[in-house]
Amino acid sequence: MTVERTSIDTLVVGAGQAGVAMSEHLSKLGVPHLVLERNRIAERWRTGRWDSLVANGPAWHDRFPSLEFDDLDPDAFAGKDRIADYFEAYASKFNAPIRTGVEVKKVVRNAGRPGFTVQTSEGVIEASRVVVATGPFQRPVIPPIAPDNERIDQIHSADYRNPEQLPEGAVLVVGAGSSGVQIADELQRAGKKVYLSVGPHDRPPRSYRNRDFCWWLGVLGEWDKEVATPGREHVTIAVSGARGGHTIDFRALAAQGITLVGLTKSFGDNVVAFESDLAVNLARGDENYLSLLNAADAYIAKNGLDLPEEPAARHVLPDPECVTHPILELDLAKAGVTSIVWATGYAVDYSWLNVEAFDANGKPKHQRGISIEPGIYFLGLPWLSRRGSSFIWGVWHDAKHIADHIVTQRKYHAYRDASQRQAEDCREERLGGPCADSLVRNVTAHAAPVPHAASQGVSA
Ligand SMILES: Cc1cc2nc3c(=O)[nH]c(=O)nc-3n(C[C@H](O)[C@H](O)[C@H](O)COP(=O)(O)OP(=O)(O)OC[C@H]3O[C@@H](n4cnc5c(N)ncnc54)[C@H](O)[C@@H]3O)c2cc1C
Repeated sequence: MTVERTSIDTLVVGAGQAGVAMSEHLSKLGVPHLVLERNRIAERWRTGRWDSLVANGPAWHDRFPSLEFDDLDPDAFAGKDRIADYFEAYASKFNAPIRTGVEVKKVVRNAGRPGFTVQTSEGVIEASRVVVATGPFQRPVIPPIAPDNERIDQIHSADYRNPEQLPEGAVLVVGAGSSGVQIADELQRAGKKVYLSVGPHDRPPRSYRNRDFCWWLGVLGEWDKEVATPGREHVTIAVSGARGGHTIDFRALAAQGITLVGLTKSFGDNVVAFESDLAVNLARGDENYLSLLNAADAYIAKNGLDLPEEPAARHVLPDPECVTHPILELDLAKAGVTSIVWATGYAVDYSWLNVEAFDANGKPKHQRGISIEPGIYFLGLPWLSRRGSSFIWGVWHDAKHIADHIVTQRKYHAYRDASQRQAEDCREERLGGPCADSLVRNVTAHAAPVPHAASQGVSA
């Protein structure tokens, strides 16, 4: 497929949920735009996740406002392929101008003229604006401590698909956010001996007093929080919609047979060392859990809601042996560990974005997605405007804000002063259009017409 347009007002890079949301808002506001996606719509949901993954939030919540999962119970958790289908259907609902199979290779700010030159796998495009919707999780990160050990199979959670993929033997899962705990649980249920390395985490209750945690975070204003609690910016959140959804309880995972260990510290000579922080990490996770229950109780009392009490939610299981007597070193061979799954997160990759929109550490500098480089926008990043920004429903609201900003900017760029307006009217008259005599008389000799930013939109 070739990119037949050579110039566009707004180019959106990426057609995951962020790109689709952006396209919807730009379409509604009449902004000429094009979305380029190197694979397929919502590809990461389709092929970039493990087979059994379901959404972390229920179907009533993890969706865009104007389309429901009409084949699902609102409290069910959509499977990853169903989510990908949802975004494809969503894009066709408003006929989103998405070109799939086209990769954006380079974006460069034009020198001495407005806009950006965009090199793609199918040709060059001029764009007045570029929205970077390439996702918060682009490059799987494996920490440098990973051992150089041929006898151990090592994969990132981004490449994990199912238990059959791993060799016979025990497995160490490093990282206990939503990916790590769900993968560890699945591997243990498939009959594997599993060690799970648990760092600092938040673990909200799946539901409390008949309301899902997504609801609680919503009514308590947590999704809308604009800044992470200092020191907790990178704390992962452990939740799961698997098997109908359940609260992540590390003591329950231990009772089920998973051996918990602290943060993975280092590898050497077939031995892995763990920090002695397991009990502390669990205690902080418990604190986070209980703080939500307390906030929920206070909200219910304050608003006189009729929601059933749930004292069992405060029951804490006894600390398992692996917490009271933590393993600080594990001989991988003796423990029969043949594989490691690194559920250690992702980084972004903007190597193709050659613009002055980054700080010294390569992080985008922006306010609610509006970059310091005029004309460049970021969408879908964690905490872009609030806690919900990288999640399905949150990105939709951020896209709306960015689309509004683009419309305002287009108005500024379309502005013509009186002399320019007169000159343009007269030019129209020369071409046979209407031009008032009075205006013709007032045209100044030096009033040069300025190209119309708005009309660059769809030129071929
Ligand atoms: C395991 C996992 C589970 C998650 N579960 C949930 C959940 O249940 N609920 C929820 O709300 N959120 C969830 N998230 C978070 C978030 O919703 C997803 O990460 C989502 O995929 C982000 O959407 P996005 O559109 O921002 O990015 P992506 O889905 O990553 O889409 C970006 C797109 O850009 C394309 N692209 C990248 N570079 C280029 C280029 N140079 N040229 C052209 N195209 C390019 C990619 O091919 C990709 O299709 C989960 C994340 C992970 C990792």
